[in-house]
Amino acid sequence: MSSGNCDVLILGGGMVGLSIAHQLLQRGITSSITILDKEPELGLHSSGRNSGVLHAGLYYKPGSIKAQVCVEGARRLRSWVQERGLPLNPCGKVIVPPRAELDAQLDVLAERGKANGAEVEFWDADQLQDLVPEARTASGRALWSPNTAVVKPISVVRRLRQELTDRGVKMLQGLQGFKARPEQQQLALSDGTELTYGHLFNCTGLQADRVAKAFGTGDQYTLLPFKGLYWQLKANCPFQPRTNIYPVPDLSVPFLGVHFTPSADTTPVVSIGPTATVAFGRENYRGLEAVEPGMAAANIGVLARQYLTNRGGFRRYVHEQAFLALPPLLIRAAQEVIPAVKPEHIELSQKVGIRSQLFNRTTERLQDDFLCLPGPCSTHVLNAISPAFTASFALADLIIDLAVPELNLG
Ligand SMILES: Cc1cc2nc3c(=O)[nH]c(=O)nc-3n(C[C@H](O)[C@H](O)[C@H](O)COP(=O)(O)OP(=O)(O)OC[C@H]3O[C@@H](n4cnc5c(N)ncnc54)[C@H](O)[C@@H]3O)c2cc1C
Repeated sequence: MSSGNCDVLILGGGMVGLSIAHQLLQRGITSSITILDKEPELGLHSSGRNSGVLHAGLYYKPGSIKAQVCVEGARRLRSWVQERGLPLNPCGKVIVPPRAELDAQLDVLAERGKANGAEVEFWDADQLQDLVPEARTASGRALWSPNTAVVKPISVVRRLRQELTDRGVKMLQGLQGFKARPEQQQLALSDGTELTYGHLFNCTGLQADRVAKAFGTGDQYTLLPFKGLYWQLKANCPFQPRTNIYPVPDLSVPFLGVHFTPSADTTPVVSIGPTATVAFGRENYRGLEAVEPGMAAANIGVLARQYLTNRGGFRRYVHEQAFLALPPLLIRAAQEVIPAVKPEHIELSQKVGIRSQLFNRTTERLQDDFLCLPGPCSTHVLNAISPAFTASFALADLIIDLAVPELNLG
């Protein structure tokens, strides 16, 4: 049996885990870091399957963790990407109300954005027509976010992994399953290796609630995975928007509605989505792959109760977003922001992701903010949904700061 010791063991080599390692090195806290990921390659889950939008910080309630880390995180990740010459599309984003009664939500977003340190600008219908002629506003106003950008998420993950290994971070990949021994600060891996750590960060995304429970924390949370399917504009579609176009979102649920996003490729591909439909398993990306019948049945029960009680305005989500995987409904939602879109303009994209959305059984609500729960010599990062990719470097600092009194290194 082999064994290993490290100051910090990070479970999960997605953007959150990699960023914690990066910030531990940058801040000179420790270089004795091991990252353990169950997959043979990194980026197979959310960090390699997202829209790649570096969000500007407009959506998040001031005071929330999301609000604290999004603007700063986006600024730092954008510089990091630019310094390395990785693909980046500095295309900005416009938010339009699909119905006139949603106009007041633009003011809410502008207020939140300003409070969070983001730049925003109101446009009238003429400005929208000049600058983004494909888009439509139902109220005569639109909100422009100049600092929103788009990156290629997988290129960010791969480059960050490479730099960390070059700086001595140990990567253990493709090891499925472990036994946690929190009282001994030890993990027994499936290949017989025993890893002893000073502090453990659980950054396992879609599995983070399960892993947290193995450390005796986060009992009141359960994962409600929501799948994001994407379509894209065909290359011969007569219009190809050059900026992100988003509808005003329903701020009571953590989904942003069907939007148009140009990629960071040399010839940008415009994706439409992602949808937010219930997934039947944490990693149920396609068809019946990785279906978890017990979990799916329990989650359908939770969703039915949410619908009946309409907690947090849940019915509106069901009516407007739950069935957008059906092409006629997707087209209708897409036409609310770009009226010229027709079924013949779009095709299904290969891209699909699943959000690690938590449901709080105690409050019976979807968890909105990121959660950092303490455990024995460990920190558990749950609900690392959007904008955790954008915010990753700043979020990593916040997570490290919460753990510092515990880190007790050297
Ligand atoms: C459809 C979609 C679109 C999105 N769009 C955006 C966007 O435009 N902008 C944005 O900022 N955010 C976006 N997000 C959110 C963003 O992708 C996530 O917030 C971010 O990637 C979370 O990173 P993570 O490291 O927590 O999780 P992950 O990337 O899922 O990484 C977790 C890692 O843990 C590993 N793991 C799991 N279980 C174990 C275990 N037991 N042992 C060891 N390893 C384990 C997995 O293999 C994986 O590599 C989107 C998400 C989705 C699903």
